[in-house]
Amino acid sequence: MNKLREISTTILFTFFECRLKFIFYYLNISRDIPYSPNILLGQIQHKIRNRLIDNNDFDNNWCEIETELMNNYIKRGLPEKNFFPLNKFIPNYYVEKEKLRFILSENKKSFKSTESIQTYFEIKLKSKIFNVVGIPDLIIEKKSGTTIIDFKKKIPSEIRYLKKYNLQLHIYAYLYSEINKKWPQNLILVDNKNRRIPIKLEKLKVIRYLTYFKNQFIPISEKIKNFGKDTKNLPKKLQLELASPDVEICRRCIYRSICFPYRDNILAFVGENKRETFDQVGILEKIFCAQDGTISLVFTQNNFNFSIRGIRKFSYNIDLEKHVRKKFYIYNIRKTKIQRQYIASFYTVILLAT
Ligand code: SF4
Repeated sequence: MNKLREISTTILFTFFECRLKFIFYYLNISRDIPYSPNILLGQIQHKIRNRLIDNNDFDNNWCEIETELMNNYIKRGLPEKNFFPLNKFIPNYYVEKEKLRFILSENKKSFKSTESIQTYFEIKLKSKIFNVVGIPDLIIEKKSGTTIIDFKKKIPSEIRYLKKYNLQLHIYAYLYSEINKKWPQNLILVDNKNRRIPIKLEKLKVIRYLTYFKNQFIPISEKIKNFGKDTKNLPKKLQLELASPDVEICRRCIYRSICFPYRDNILAFVGENKRETFDQVGILEKIFCAQDGTISLVFTQNNFNFSIRGIRKFSYNIDLEKHVRKKFYIYNIRKTKIQRQYIASFYTVILLAT
């Protein structure tokens, strides 16, 4: 187990959702990442919250983090002009910034304590037993006990997220206990609106989860050890064995377009639930070229037509003309949809059925 890649809490949660999704994630298989300026704003807010508990310099920190993110973008060859400066792309940029400034000053007041405290920001905790790592946002150690805090942009009421955040904090608690030989006293989620949600610590449950994961992961890692990052190497038979397609989980899965079990079930997903996944499957009927160099594809699915507009040359690599009357799978990983008019985005994947 030690020679294997470390498992983060996010990857671990994926394991409990779907083992195939976990493997895609674990093998670091490239996928279409739907980045947006709002995701970047979330990253700034997250980083700044961790930095500023004992630091007053809000504006300089904000500016430094935004520049850091932009430089990372440029290094990775991403189109920074589509995202930066963020205030141009995010309508409520200044409102969000001021809101966070206010919340942080409130937070500071409430963290004041008569006891002496020790705080740790984003330190990496690692389990020697389970090969799992976690980086809690904030650990506050007092004589009376330890509190682990995780900041979230918002805490949705959906049970899936609560489960995920709950498990995440429990893993942090376990990692803390393995290293410090004592369990934390409090686990707390804090959101952008300064809502604090205490999580009840269930020690036995988290140990059971980790043991189950370890027992399952060892045989799975044997099966996948010869597969690289190329998904074509991950045979359909193995995918079927590992996958557990479920509408709730698949509809948010960024690996849909490389997942055979999902593809096999796509009609079940795009039928009743098409508003959920925004994916489609259809027979290509016509191709139109627009003056701006993009093309539109018209498909039929059962008894209705739908079209996808604005497809650019680089988003497909086959001669579409040759495939009229053939079946295609259309994945809208970015989930943008307007009625029956689908607008191609960078991340829409169109695959010929084989
Ligand atoms: S699309 Fe569904 S079945 Fe396929 S990997 Fe994702 S969650 Fe698993």
